[in-house]
Amino acid sequence: MSIDADVIVIGGGPVGSTALAMLGRAGLTAIGLDRDREMWPTARAVHFDGETMRTLQGLGIAEDVAKVTIPMKDVDVVNEADEILVHAPTDRLGDQAWNEHVSFHQPDVERLMRQLIEATPGVELRCGVTATDVVNVPGGVEVSTIDPDGMRQLMRARWVIAADGARSDVRRIFGIETDKYGEDAQWLVVDGDLIDAPGHQTDMIQFARYSRPALWLRLPGNRVRMEFMLVPGDDPEEIVTPAAVERLSRGVLPVDRFTPERQAIYTFRGRIARRWREGGVFLAGDAAHQAPPLFGQGLCAGIRDVENLIWKLDLVARGVADESLLDTYETERKPHATFWVETAASQAVMIQTLDAKVAEGRDEYIRSHPEATAVPTSPALGAGFHEGDADERAGRLGIQPILADGTRLDDMVGTHFLVAADRAVHSALPAALRAALDTDADVVTLLDPLKVDRILSAAGGRAVVMRPDHYILGVGDTAEDLERLILRIPSVASAAAVAAENR
Ligand SMILES: Cc1cc2nc3c(=O)[nH]c(=O)nc-3n(C[C@H](O)[C@H](O)[C@H](O)COP(=O)(O)OP(=O)(O)OC[C@H]3O[C@@H](n4cnc5c(N)ncnc54)[C@H](O)[C@@H]3O)c2cc1C
Repeated sequence: MSIDADVIVIGGGPVGSTALAMLGRAGLTAIGLDRDREMWPTARAVHFDGETMRTLQGLGIAEDVAKVTIPMKDVDVVNEADEILVHAPTDRLGDQAWNEHVSFHQPDVERLMRQLIEATPGVELRCGVTATDVVNVPGGVEVSTIDPDGMRQLMRARWVIAADGARSDVRRIFGIETDKYGEDAQWLVVDGDLIDAPGHQTDMIQFARYSRPALWLRLPGNRVRMEFMLVPGDDPEEIVTPAAVERLSRGVLPVDRFTPERQAIYTFRGRIARRWREGGVFLAGDAAHQAPPLFGQGLCAGIRDVENLIWKLDLVARGVADESLLDTYETERKPHATFWVETAASQAVMIQTLDAKVAEGRDEYIRSHPEATAVPTSPALGAGFHEGDADERAGRLGIQPILADGTRLDDMVGTHFLVAADRAVHSALPAALRAALDTDADVVTLLDPLKVDRILSAAGGRAVVMRPDHYILGVGDTAEDLERLILRIPSVASAAAVAAENR
């Protein structure tokens, strides 16, 4: 089958755009389609984490993104009586060598991603083009499209990434159901500018008010985000009017200094698609999972999806890895994303109660267990291409140390496999394997204690192999362990198989 591109990406939102940029970096050809002619001008996501910044670093735009973000320095949880139940500082440089929590204005970051796509050879985003059908055929996938002039086209690719959002057409086309987590809730989201007024001292406040749960968040510049849960008796038509916004804002900020930019009602929901793969089609982002935005992880999870998938597509496209590697996308990512959806959904139940008695019990519980409202630690991946089944040190995100010269680890390693080992363990490897590592373009080996000591102590071993998405393939303590891990790197394994055949 002749193909128009290696990959067609349906959806040019933040997840689809990131996928396109990553595919271009990997040297794959890709066509992105988005039914909207223009980039969406308003924000939904307002927070991302250090892992997302690390991904953006890998794409070469983290420094530019950092200029349009601000670190989120602290979070409060406040009750009906304005008692601060929890005050948590969040302004810290995390294990990923970036701030663990940053706030941003989504269009600023999406603009940078689109500029990157334009500058990247081999990939393009076609705006105003809607995918109307997707069919798996021998050798690839066919995508039917229609443009704003009614022109229809049939496009072919080896694979499709469906990043077409919560209402995913692709999920519907393949009849993929979703499972529901927690209770759906409608929230009014208000973005605007606060002029000549500092607002709250705390950067983010969860108002766990049983009369009306609400949220305040400081964004870059003068921007602020407020969210108000709709309660029984609210009129959805009235609540989006300027008068209603002013009424609701009164308990949250100095309204005479606030100019609303937009207000809209969203349904916060927890959903996980039952299948994430249908032949050559992979669901990613909100098409695969949606979380209530309590921990600000929905978009972060979508970026993790494509970070997980694209190096695998690259290895399979180059014939270095078997197609079966692609099955690990769903087995690894689905349990990980489910963790965040489940946790956010149960946190939402706690924060969103409208029952005064339940709220009283909850407040009592939070006073004695403040950690109950903290952002949880990200879990390990589900079973897949790593040794996490047998060793709990594996399948987790590896750290990114800042090196002695001030650069970050990934600036040196890029998106390659990383072998980091203590010199004694490395020198006990068979000489042929050491030589093979030295010439393997997919692998970077680091032995300098100044560079590897922190990685090894964080991983808890004398040798560690990390995948191109920085998740740990395995950790070892002996040369035998390290040899086993290195032989799992697809490029090393396929070179070893060729050498054995020629012997
Ligand atoms: C109020 C709110 C606050 C949030 N806050 C956060 C936060 O702080 N942090 C966080 O990480 N997440 C947050 N989220 C979640 C986050 O916004 C989403 O997870 C993220 O936007 C999903 O990105 P996506 O690219 O998967 O989907 P979308 O952004 O929905 O993009 C999908 C794209 O696909 C296009 N499309 C759809 N169908 C077709 C088709 N048939 N053909 C072509 N194109 C198509 C659409 O035009 C759209 O551009 C929040 C969500 C909401 C609602």
